[in-house]
Amino acid sequence: MNLLYKSTRSKEVEVTASQAILKGLAEDGGLFVPEHIPALDVDMDTLAGMSYQETAYAVMKQFLTDFTEEELKSCIAKAYDEKFDTAEIAPIVQKDEAYYLELFHGKTIAFKDMALSILPHLMTTSAKKNQDKNEIVILTATSGDTGKAALAGFADVPGTKIIVFYPKNGVSPIQEKQMVTQKGDNTFVVGIHGNFDDAQTGVKKLFGDKELAAELDAKGYQFSSANSINIGRLVPQVVYYVYAYAKMYGRGEISRGEEINVVVPTGNFGNILAAYYAKLMGVPIRKLICASNDNKVLYDFFRTGTYDRNREFILTTSPSMDILISSNLERLIYRIAGADADKDVELMKALTTEGKYEITDAMKQELTDFYGNYANEKETADEISMVYHKTGYVLDTHTAVASRVYRKYVAETQDATKTVIASTASPYKFTRSVMDAIDAEKYEALGDFELVDALSELSGVKVPQAIEEIRTAPVLHDHVVEAADMKKIVKEFLAV
Ligand SMILES: *Cc1c(COP(=O)(O)O)cnc(C)c1O
Repeated sequence: MNLLYKSTRSKEVEVTASQAILKGLAEDGGLFVPEHIPALDVDMDTLAGMSYQETAYAVMKQFLTDFTEEELKSCIAKAYDEKFDTAEIAPIVQKDEAYYLELFHGKTIAFKDMALSILPHLMTTSAKKNQDKNEIVILTATSGDTGKAALAGFADVPGTKIIVFYPKNGVSPIQEKQMVTQKGDNTFVVGIHGNFDDAQTGVKKLFGDKELAAELDAKGYQFSSANSINIGRLVPQVVYYVYAYAKMYGRGEISRGEEINVVVPTGNFGNILAAYYAKLMGVPIRKLICASNDNKVLYDFFRTGTYDRNREFILTTSPSMDILISSNLERLIYRIAGADADKDVELMKALTTEGKYEITDAMKQELTDFYGNYANEKETADEISMVYHKTGYVLDTHTAVASRVYRKYVAETQDATKTVIASTASPYKFTRSVMDAIDAEKYEALGDFELVDALSELSGVKVPQAIEEIRTAPVLHDHVVEAADMKKIVKEFLAV
């Protein structure tokens, strides 16, 4: 039976998985959600023996029901191959009472690779299935990691172009270098004067621009989104939570049916929503621990039931979490409202006009699966230093936020449940902040790539290929525009 997808903002819209992937965002501005979350139909003993690719098929086939077995297996095989530097794809490392699920072994050394290495294949397959003749133009706003992962995924994929907007002063030096050195004739990278929310709002506006859509269509183009609002991003992320649980079970770390907690360093709420979907599929997960940095809008939301973006936007050392509008939260809001599109529209409208909304008491009751907390800049740096000095393991800044929040959770609850921390980036992506946390004085004077070598020496981890590549790569993209000029530059690139 086909699993269909609805928009969070309408009762009528119903599309297939491949149509939802192609569109990215529903025309009413809502996000596509599956009509129900399918239950895992493979038992844990079988899953425990599966490779990452086999697990991916077992999970994704239940969400993407209009893909044939051959289509889906081919997408999976193209995505999870030697681009990853370990055959395990997502290894689990036990350190200091927690299990770090390393999601950064792909091409751009951040967890975005987990979904963005498969999305281009899901998308081109979807286009074929729907007899779509238009060329797909991926339009993406990035807080740093999505941009590079999407560029790497879509570069030179026939039938696609990709345009990435990033906040000019809101990403790490390594993140920026990774993006502006991107090769591929179909790639465009633009810095904007503004923060990530400005970039994301600008992109959403372009998606909603009917006039522009018609002009593009006349030229044989159509927009799609590689942001985590695309269901083609979300579904591949469910896989590694199933995989992590099955591997822990297979190794005897947990017994049959034993619950685990999951901690996720959160920005746009995509990754933690995927963990929630894994729980709803039947993975025994007790608490979903949502970790924020100083932009703690989600922490406040889980404490009070009010989502309020009216606050200062703070630039932190975990830039991929510097977000005040967590787009994917809308999927949770819709769900806890009892799949009520009218309620969702009401709240999202309030978010646009007043910058905030409050959920009902009944909705609050539905949030008991979640726990929210945050780590400030000092706590994050202390966490990196402490874990390093205790274990020799070096965390990146985002993972450190999660790790610190986990410590706070245990102190507050005394919950001894075994816990998986989603480790979302390699420390090599945020070398400056990481080395600063370990010994500011010693490393202060070093340049970005000297720091890379120092990190390698200190951690005993080989410098990843993704970093070696950009040491000497030439800058190929140097556009910087005002947020208000995003439409203009898109039209320029596409010559419409
Ligand atoms: C994107 C990102 C996050 C936040 O993930 P969301 O799915 O947006 O919540 C956390 N850490 C890193 C390193 C990221 O790149």
